[in-house]
Amino acid sequence: MRLLVTKFGGTSVGSAAAIRALATITAQNRAAWDGVVVVVSALSGVTDSLLRIVRTAQSGDAVGVHELYTALRLRHDSTIDELLTTERAAVRKDVDGLLDECAKLCEGVRVLGELTLRTLDAITGLGERMSARIVAATLREHGIAASAYDATDLIVTDDRYQDASPLMPETIERTTGLLGPVLAAGSTPVITGFIGATLAGVKTTLGRGGSDWSAAILGAALEASEVWIYTDVDGVLTADPRTVPDARVIPTLSYNEVSELAYFGAKVLHPKTIRPVVERGIALRVKNTFNPTHSGTLIVQQTERIVGAIKAVTSVHSLSLITVMGRGMLGVPGIAARTFAAIARQNASILMISQASSEQSICCVIPAGTTANVVASLRQELAAELERRDIDTISVDDNVAIITAVGAGMRGTSGVAKRVFGVVGDAEINVIAIAQGSSECAISLVVSEADARAAVRAIHTLTHTETISAHHRAPCE
Ligand code: ASP
Ligand code: MG
Repeated sequence: MRLLVTKFGGTSVGSAAAIRALATITAQNRAAWDGVVVVVSALSGVTDSLLRIVRTAQSGDAVGVHELYTALRLRHDSTIDELLTTERAAVRKDVDGLLDECAKLCEGVRVLGELTLRTLDAITGLGERMSARIVAATLREHGIAASAYDATDLIVTDDRYQDASPLMPETIERTTGLLGPVLAAGSTPVITGFIGATLAGVKTTLGRGGSDWSAAILGAALEASEVWIYTDVDGVLTADPRTVPDARVIPTLSYNEVSELAYFGAKVLHPKTIRPVVERGIALRVKNTFNPTHSGTLIVQQTERIVGAIKAVTSVHSLSLITVMGRGMLGVPGIAARTFAAIARQNASILMISQASSEQSICCVIPAGTTANVVASLRQELAAELERRDIDTISVDDNVAIITAVGAGMRGTSGVAKRVFGVVGDAEINVIAIAQGSSECAISLVVSEADARAAVRAIHTLTHTETISAHHRAPCE
């Protein structure tokens, strides 16, 4: 069976008009494929609203809870009223039941003044449970055989609430067991993104933005041919269009390229989406619900490399560069390990590391919010070295950004770095530090925040998304 798993994000189910577009798209997809699965996010903004309600409940503000709750109910009721006629009453009742669950859980939180991560997961997952029911009923009213499923019955996870990961063997068993017959009967299951449950049946969530990952997990479990992520842009772009107005859609990216992009700030796809599909050779596509005939961006294991080409440029902001420097570090093992351990103890994630071969300095880039704690932790860890003057300084460069140029065609191609530094130099931008991953699929530069936009624009002039003439191509790897 050629199976297509589609996922519709918050804006793609954010209004009655969007859900109608989803229905039209799903009818077309069903005509072209043997089986179609629909995975949905909560209506746009609903997960944030649920989080706000819980926090308000925790603070003991019953009136505030009531206001937010009423707004949430109105939002869902009006969407239902706009979309449904024959099933309106039944779906309203279902959604009301879920909202009651929300009210009860919030009342518990308010009375106790205490919120566990487990309760938080039960509440924040309600948005998807409501949207799946609304979407399934809409499909049926459009004449499409469909029914809603909660992923709590399909995706079995560990018990890391807020950040759960799937247990694949159990997930495969449940998913194929429950959905196999549904798909064989020609029906389209509409499944909640974002949520799962432990083996014991306790509700979990996969982390914010996790619905993309849900689609990939389900696609893997069902051995889908392709997984399509429908969003509100035409695909993965060569740069953020707010910085680069002439950014273009990238037709094809490799898994490696898209991983680098996701890691370095491009928000199109949740980074964890890639692994379940890459392991199984399932093609992943990003498409636009509001422009569905656009082919979007196809993400495959290996693309035809465009030699030397930079496909996209991205940036991460609000960072600090920490430099540990000292002549006494030369040839002393363990300083790097202790430096990184001291940073890890502050739960700061390191975005980039570079060390010169003279071994006299190590620098790394961390989110600005963690800087003060990290520096204190480093001073403590390296106190003896600082005292002996083996380390001269631990310095901080605030307000830096990382600019990353991505493209697998850089691998083994000389001259890419030269062109990058050429355009950045022409724009009179000072490069503070550089790093190139050994995947050779990305080059990252640290520049001051004030130079970040100009650096992105300069490097963007080097991007190539078209496949150029045959003799410029290297064979697929
Ligand atoms: N609704 C969830 C969130 O807003 C999951 C998702 O949309 O991917 O984080
Ligand atoms: Mg998303």
